[in-house]
Amino acid sequence: MFDTLSDRLAATFKNLRGKGRLSEADIDATAREIRIALLEADVALPVVRAFIKQVKERAAGAEVSQALNPAQQVIKIVNEELVGILGGETRRLRFAKQPPTVIMLAGLQGSGKTTLAGKLGLWLKGQGHSPLLVAADLQRPNAVTQLSVVAERAGVAVYAPEPGNGVGDPVKVAKDSIEYARAKQFDVVVVDTAGRLGIDQELMQQAADIRDAVSPDEVLFVVDAMIGQDAVNTAEAFRDGVGFDGVVLSKLDGDARGGAALSIAHVTGRQIMFASNGEKLDEFDAFHPDRMASRILG
Ligand code: GDP
Repeated sequence: MFDTLSDRLAATFKNLRGKGRLSEADIDATAREIRIALLEADVALPVVRAFIKQVKERAAGAEVSQALNPAQQVIKIVNEELVGILGGETRRLRFAKQPPTVIMLAGLQGSGKTTLAGKLGLWLKGQGHSPLLVAADLQRPNAVTQLSVVAERAGVAVYAPEPGNGVGDPVKVAKDSIEYARAKQFDVVVVDTAGRLGIDQELMQQAADIRDAVSPDEVLFVVDAMIGQDAVNTAEAFRDGVGFDGVVLSKLDGDARGGAALSIAHVTGRQIMFASNGEKLDEFDAFHPDRMASRILG
């Protein structure tokens, strides 16, 4: 997803190689190139502005270093700033002191929530947990079946309304699932919620009602990295309408320009916690800002 951005940045840094010292003009030219590369990759404008300001200030003020030549020094600054934009440290899931830990998934329809529930289930199982996936998406006729299929593939349990009874109350399903988890000793409950194709009030209200009913330890906002600038707008709408604690980027395997998704942490002040990069359940991992920065910088 970030190949073009990587290539552009590599070309920019190449121009600096062999220079003994960086003049103000060198720094300006480099900043300009980086700015274009980020904008072309779809990184949100306020994020680009903040990023360039930091890089310029730090590059201008950098001490002459024995260990690093000027080009390496700029790369180091860009790398550190990129890690910062991506959220700095990796944030891990918070588990409740008193199980079950409740994780609620929110996001638009098609963002990858149901797939993520399966991925998270498999991942949690691998960490020694005993997860329960909850089908509180009763909007889409097929969603309950889809979650059951995903749960079976992951080898984890699912809590769903009886087939044929799909027009139930998602808030009640979510609430009852917590009692069920407690009784059956599941230690993590993953609640899949309904999405819409676009943001609407009813969707936000339902998600907020489910949130209030289950008091989640983590609300994870799932976003399709392929939707470009809309990723940032959607994230802001969910932050204001439902609130979330962490972000999951899905479809990072796509070939769209993923810069918008990379802007979400900075814009919303919530960290990216996981990344999904494929339809298979094991194509998923914790998100590490430093590794992502290294991948982008090649
Ligand atoms: P939901 O409506 O939010 O529950 O989204 P789904 O989980 O049903 O995902 C929508 C589509 O995206 C499905 O066809 C999934 O197979 C696909 N999908 C989900 N995650 C990924 C991913 O990381 N990469 C790719 N390429 N496809 C994904």
